[in-house]
Amino acid sequence: MDMQVSFLDRLFDAGLLIETGVEGLYGRSGEFEGVIAAFERLIDRTGGEDGAEAIRFPPGMNRAFFEKSGYMKSFPQLAGTVHSFCGCELDHISLLKCMEEGGDWTEGQKATEIVLTPAACYPLYPTVAKRGALPAGGGLYDLQSWCFRHEPSNDPARQQLFRMREYVCMGTEAKVTEFRQLWMDRGVKMMQDVGLSVEIDIANDPFFGRAGKLLANNQRDQSLKFELLIPVTSDVKKTACMSFNYHQDAFGAKWGLALEDGSVAHTACVGFGLERIALALFAAHGLDTKDWPDNVRTVLWG
Ligand code: AMP
Ligand code: ZN
Repeated sequence: MDMQVSFLDRLFDAGLLIETGVEGLYGRSGEFEGVIAAFERLIDRTGGEDGAEAIRFPPGMNRAFFEKSGYMKSFPQLAGTVHSFCGCELDHISLLKCMEEGGDWTEGQKATEIVLTPAACYPLYPTVAKRGALPAGGGLYDLQSWCFRHEPSNDPARQQLFRMREYVCMGTEAKVTEFRQLWMDRGVKMMQDVGLSVEIDIANDPFFGRAGKLLANNQRDQSLKFELLIPVTSDVKKTACMSFNYHQDAFGAKWGLALEDGSVAHTACVGFGLERIALALFAAHGLDTKDWPDNVRTVLWG
């Protein structure tokens, strides 16, 4: 049997993930959540002294900001929008009739001002830009959000709704590239400390279509994205559990993020895929956390 399907079935059987009938949309057990909470505390201990400003946005963001971000140019296949019924009583009667007849009742739904957050950092840039110029030394932010990506799959590590913890740095090129390197080193150490075998590799985002190939090649040529890979369902095709992204001054220019001297800010973000890290731990150490090696349990639970 396919390794991804068998791991997913074992997770269901153990009650760690709970089926909803939709691929990539799962409930989580208390034990699964306990692992994510423990790993987030490890992240806090690792990055806590850096003085990042913590901000938590909901899993939906302002559609106008999403449109301006250019997400639909690059990743239309992944986006999720929130639609609602906005009609009158007559429209309601037709809606119910359509549902009863098994028709496509969603056709009448209208886009709301909210879209689902595609990555934890997307709502941050317009928020910081609105405050005016960055303080001396730039900005450092600590984010966590549920994110949506329309990529249904029976690989338990490819979910449609999952959580991303991120640190985002804004400042000079030197500052943000140093920040990215610091987290690559920290990421490797953290994973080793919890008994996972890791590898860092150059990567690209899944840009849509033929034009997207060029963007992906450009991203690789300029080493703008790295991923931290861990075996989850396969030792050969490893799973990206963290990413390290340097945006140059693209987001700074788009959103008008200015440094104290008026120059355009460079930005970088590092993202932890929290479900993927939990799944990597369950794959490596077994489905019962009580049986995990003592050194791993000590790092996670003291
Ligand atoms: P990205 O913005 O694509 O680099 O995503 C940041 C991190 O989120 C990745 O390194 C993964 O760990 C995680 N991630 C991305 N897509 C998914 C997904 N479909 N399911 C679960 N985790 C994901
Ligand atoms: Zn980001």
